[in-house]
Amino acid sequence: MSRPTSAVTRVVLLDGALLAVAIGALLASPGGTGALRSAPWWAPLALAVAFGVSEHAVFHLEHRREAITVSLSEVPSLYALVFLDIRLAIVARLIGSLVVVWVERRPSIHKLLFNAALFTFEIALCGLLMRVLLGVTGHTATWQIVGGVAVVGVVTTVGGFAVSAAIAQFEGGFVEKSIGTLRSSGWLYVLNSTVAGLIVTPSLVNPWLIPLAFVPVAIFWIYVQRQASLSQHLSDVQALQGFSGRVAGEPDVDGIGRIAVVEAARLLRARRVTLFVVEDANRPADLVARASVDVPIPAPQLAPPDPGETSEPTVRIGRVCIAPLVTDGGMVGALAVAGRHGVTDWFTDADLERLRIIAEQLAAPIARGLLHRQLEYDASHDSLTGLENRPSFERTLTGTPATLPDESAVAFVAMLDLDRFKEVNDTLGHHAGDVLLIEVARRLATLAEPGDVVARFAGDEFAVAGTRSDHDAVDEFVRGCTASISRPVRIDGFELVVNASAGIAERSVGMEPAEAIRHADIAMYHAKANHLGHDHYRPEIDRRTPARLSMLGDLRAALEHGEIDVHFQPKLDLVTGAICGAEVLARWHHHSRGWVAPDDFVAVAEQSGLIRQLTDLVLDRTVRTIADLDALGHRLGLAMNLSAHDLLDELLCDRIERHLDLHGVDPTRLTLEITEGTLLYDSPRTRATISRLHDIGVHLSIDDFGTGYSSLTYLRDLPVSELKIDRSFVTNLIVEAQDETIVRSTIDLGHNLGLHVVAEGVETNDVATRLRTLGCDIAQGYGICRPLPYDQLTTWLANTSLAPRLGHTANPLHQ
Ligand code: C2E
Ligand code: CA
Ligand code: CA
Repeated sequence: MSRPTSAVTRVVLLDGALLAVAIGALLASPGGTGALRSAPWWAPLALAVAFGVSEHAVFHLEHRREAITVSLSEVPSLYALVFLDIRLAIVARLIGSLVVVWVERRPSIHKLLFNAALFTFEIALCGLLMRVLLGVTGHTATWQIVGGVAVVGVVTTVGGFAVSAAIAQFEGGFVEKSIGTLRSSGWLYVLNSTVAGLIVTPSLVNPWLIPLAFVPVAIFWIYVQRQASLSQHLSDVQALQGFSGRVAGEPDVDGIGRIAVVEAARLLRARRVTLFVVEDANRPADLVARASVDVPIPAPQLAPPDPGETSEPTVRIGRVCIAPLVTDGGMVGALAVAGRHGVTDWFTDADLERLRIIAEQLAAPIARGLLHRQLEYDASHDSLTGLENRPSFERTLTGTPATLPDESAVAFVAMLDLDRFKEVNDTLGHHAGDVLLIEVARRLATLAEPGDVVARFAGDEFAVAGTRSDHDAVDEFVRGCTASISRPVRIDGFELVVNASAGIAERSVGMEPAEAIRHADIAMYHAKANHLGHDHYRPEIDRRTPARLSMLGDLRAALEHGEIDVHFQPKLDLVTGAICGAEVLARWHHHSRGWVAPDDFVAVAEQSGLIRQLTDLVLDRTVRTIADLDALGHRLGLAMNLSAHDLLDELLCDRIERHLDLHGVDPTRLTLEITEGTLLYDSPRTRATISRLHDIGVHLSIDDFGTGYSSLTYLRDLPVSELKIDRSFVTNLIVEAQDETIVRSTIDLGHNLGLHVVAEGVETNDVATRLRTLGCDIAQGYGICRPLPYDQLTTWLANTSLAPRLGHTANPLHQ
């Protein structure tokens, strides 16, 4: 709560009013301010001391927000009223009380001033009223006592209102405060002034009887004080019990913290309460919650929890008190309070004890909350890398809808997937795989910008979501990620290089996170399948988009009307330097779509069942071309691609035999390429097809070798005659040392199994030369020749020297 200066000003005005009344009272006293009875010279001194003692013995009961001040200042007041000149009485009171107040409580200057004004006011008013009363009743001893008791009682009550008025300047609610004071302390004023009367009475007979009166009063006083502290203790216990009950219903640390600081502020009358929690032994304490902002509380220097540590003391540093929250498991935090308001400015020992009890009650719920937080963290994070997991990633995206700071800004989701991660696991073991994943996570987290969310989904799949200033910035970031992943990782003395493929999807406003993730996923698979490094989501690459579905109709029509064509990409025998064959690749030029990538329409064909027709068309063209080329004097073997669906087709072998028979082609001139990935769908039906094809006598080739995960034993059992090293390893053979290692060992592996080895994606002479050195049998790629339509193939074959030639292009797809 802030303390506006205007409140202080108003209190100073109140001081002025009280003093004005006091001066008026002194001037208006009928018959002057002289003493009513004579007293020895030391009486003012003794009374100053008595005022001091009564001030020192004051104790406060705090009941809800009401403070009950129990004091016996009425006793010296009544004495002073009877035995001293009023002005002298004022001086005695000011000296005796204020010295004690100052020494013991160090109040702020405006509080001290207010007290001075109040004491002056009370004594002066008592003096006036007493003289007015005695003027009516006459100066008998009886009236001096009875009148004194009445006057002191009334004036103390009026003083109580003045105190309420002063406090109300800061906290408001004068009327309620006054009523509260009357209700809680009214009886006390009556009792105190009556007791004062009882004590003063014997002194009127003989001053030496005073000690006699003090005996019962002292006993009464001690009894009241005991009783009061007991009931205070009981109400504390009740309040504190309520405290633990209130925080018990909260499961999480923040919830507990919010309730705890407010409750602690109320129970301890603190202006400011701060709760710190030690969540992690290696990090400084976290500020969990704080109530109000009046007095700054410095963060305590909390030592990391020391298991077994149980006796961290509750401490008071100036006007700040700090209590540790200690459980059996060690310290879990600290509760700090500052700026006490109410009757006193400083925290008493009783407050400190209350703080200790609150801290004691708070420790277990906070520890439970921390455990809860830990469990929640575990449930939403990947335990290996510490990144968020998929559900949490989706939740975070749902919680932060794509909002863009300006028009060119882009919100994106990127998926990253390591290439050939399984190989690492299989060859180097799971430990190495784990180390690799942790390192990748670390690199991604380092690259992420504030506000980005980084997650590990499963296995070797990572995701990043964020916002960038434009598309280029997104691209740059994702490229940075893949580049960073492909930097070597040292594991157990090995330098490991792993690449990643990335897919980027834009998150438009209102888009479901799951949809954005799916898009990024599709783009990632597209990038991986096409060795692009990274790619963006486009409806064309999405099998489930309307674009794909509408492609289906067009593809069906194209197959029916013979609009699908084939191109031929020559293969070079690296040993003889002669062209030994060609791969047949399907081509589709659509009147409005233009050239459609085979990857796309083959996928649509596979999903729609049109693949049989497509394979038939290519098969027909392939077998026919073998015969046609023969007639031209080019004895080439042709290779065509089969898809996974073809291998499940039980009639495939019959059709192949029929085509071969029809054109009188020797089965050994036909090679069927089956991707390594396809072989993974190993099933009895696939196996049966493969062995029948082998029986027919056609050659089988494992395409895209190195991208799948076929085991050696599986390879050994397959009746294949050729391995085709995937172009992603071949193209950069010269510059990527790791690629060379892979190519070299694949060649060795193939030869050991008695297979021919073909390298595809040969784009330069240098690569071809290196492949020859490495012992590779056959090369295929743009560096030798691009895929050509039949007419151009025959021209090319007629004109080519047998050595590889560069830059010969004919395929519009690749121009
Ligand atoms: P694939 O079987 O790996 O075919 C080789 C691909 O590599 C062809 O792409 C070819 O044009 C391309 N290529 C050849 N030399 C180079 C080179 O030096 N550098 C680069 N970067 N690329 C080169 P294309 O024609 O786009 O075919 C893509 C894929 O579509 C093929 O990959 C194959 O899996 C599939 N496909 C093509 N035709 C058919 C078909 O008739 N039936 C089936 N089932 N799949 C087909
Ligand atoms: Ca192929
Ligand atoms: Ca291939």
